[in-house]
Amino acid sequence: MTFTLIPLPYAYNALEPFINEQTMRIHHGNHHQTYVDKLNAALKDNPDLLRKTPEELVKGLKSLPLPVQAPVRNFGGGVANHTFFWDVMKKDVGLKGEIAIAIEKQYGSFDAFKQEFSDMAAKLFGSGWTWLVMNQGKLEIVNTQNQDSPTADGKIPLLVIDVWEHAYYLQYQYKRVEFIKAWWNVVNWEKVNALYAGKK
Ligand code: MN
Repeated sequence: MTFTLIPLPYAYNALEPFINEQTMRIHHGNHHQTYVDKLNAALKDNPDLLRKTPEELVKGLKSLPLPVQAPVRNFGGGVANHTFFWDVMKKDVGLKGEIAIAIEKQYGSFDAFKQEFSDMAAKLFGSGWTWLVMNQGKLEIVNTQNQDSPTADGKIPLLVIDVWEHAYYLQYQYKRVEFIKAWWNVVNWEKVNALYAGKK
């Protein structure tokens, strides 16, 4: 068994104009694919690990044999994080449901939450991800470097933005803040709400 690239849950141009087709094609077809290929290469002599999902491997990172921890962290994280990222994006989905109430309760207002999340994403140095997670039953905004996943620390992801340069450079060049601003238009709040409702 080997890992395969999961197709995007929508067309490559589905998030236009906020994330353009060329960015999505290269991000999914090349970057995401490369993580799949590298994970397969790294685990080729570990058939028992190939039977797990990338998400399971990353979540259980600390219990894996030491020699495979680095490749699972980098490539398994790359596979799982991107799959999750595609899933929490969709155009024209408004914020509603229990997650809307929970955000307002914890951050005071949606705007305050949006500001804090955007600031975290803007200030992340180098490459990484900004997440909304459930941690001990509470919402939390956290950054991870490179392809690290909060699931390895027992946190439950609800939403994520990829702030590696490859996520926005073709369309926004160095302007990460512009990308973050545009990305709010493609948050799939239905999905985020379903994740929250299932885990609170
Ligand atoms: Mn990426």
